[in-house]
Amino acid sequence: WAKADGKARWALFDPERNAHRMTRQNLSASLRQAIDRGEFVLEYQPIVSLADNTLCGFEALVRWRHPEFGTLTPDRFIGLAEENGAIVPLGRWVLTEACRQARGWQLTHGGPPPFVSVNVAVRQVWDSDLVADVRRVLAESELPPGLLQLELTESAVMGSGGRPLEALRALSDMGVRIAIDDFGTGYSNLAYLSRLPVRTLKLDGTFVRGFRTARHLSSADETIVTSLVDLAHKLGITVTAECVEGPAQAERLRRIGCDSGQGWHWSRPLAADRVADLLIPCPPAA
Ligand code: C2E
Ligand code: MG
Ligand code: MG
Ligand code: MG
Repeated sequence: WAKADGKARWALFDPERNAHRMTRQNLSASLRQAIDRGEFVLEYQPIVSLADNTLCGFEALVRWRHPEFGTLTPDRFIGLAEENGAIVPLGRWVLTEACRQARGWQLTHGGPPPFVSVNVAVRQVWDSDLVADVRRVLAESELPPGLLQLELTESAVMGSGGRPLEALRALSDMGVRIAIDDFGTGYSNLAYLSRLPVRTLKLDGTFVRGFRTARHLSSADETIVTSLVDLAHKLGITVTAECVEGPAQAERLRRIGCDSGQGWHWSRPLAADRVADLLIPCPPAA
């Protein structure tokens, strides 16, 4: 961004940019110790069945309680963790913690037990033995595999053949649910995904956003979502809509036949102790 004239050279020493870069380096370098120091926490966002407004599960979303910078959302550090490989131990921590919590819900909730949905980064599939990690964590937590959902992005499973495909098959054979996150933002197509053991598509928020503005006429987004949901259902895949922010969106998605939704309309991501308030207590044992 330095221009040819002398004055623009100052841009190279722009203190704000420099501070920003230092912060990134600082965060990147301290990721691994932060895991050991217990600075990460999970929040849980309800996933709700559209047909009857009942709770089906929770997505686990990681936050960093940074001693200096306060609470950081994943956009500040997941990219850095993917770059330097810290995503592998961080992802392992998230998986362990999420399964431990979900096992607790299963034991205390009076209704059908909610599943927990865990985001998995590309590098966890390629640079670590994801299948072995999942098998071990499920055994240690005693969480039934059917109560764990893994969210992978299209880029994690597309065109990559061998390793991800084998991992997905092994996980699915174990009974773990596989979901494709942010569906519609990448280049994958349903024909390809239908050959993978994918159970759910999480429809990216960009589609749902269009529903707010076009109230009367059927918008392009609505046409696309309607066909996607129909096609997914014909292939035996369920659809969860992300970023459902209001009642009009929820109602439209329900009419289209979308299976479940997640978003501020129902709840923001919640701290673990707030999740307990949503669960129905088990009747006391006789
Ligand atoms: P995502 O998996 O697509 O998660 C959904 C994001 O949408 C979350 O952002 C959530 O807080 C936000 N959201 C939920 N409802 C609404 C809504 O109604 N409106 C709007 N505008 N946003 C909503 P968050 O928590 O900041 O996470 C961002 C991304 O970071 C996630 O996107 C996911 O890709 C990544 N991430 C989060 N936790 C983990 C993790 O444990 N491991 C990995 N690898 N990635 C994670
Ligand atoms: Mg996700
Ligand atoms: Mg998503
Ligand atoms: Mg998203």
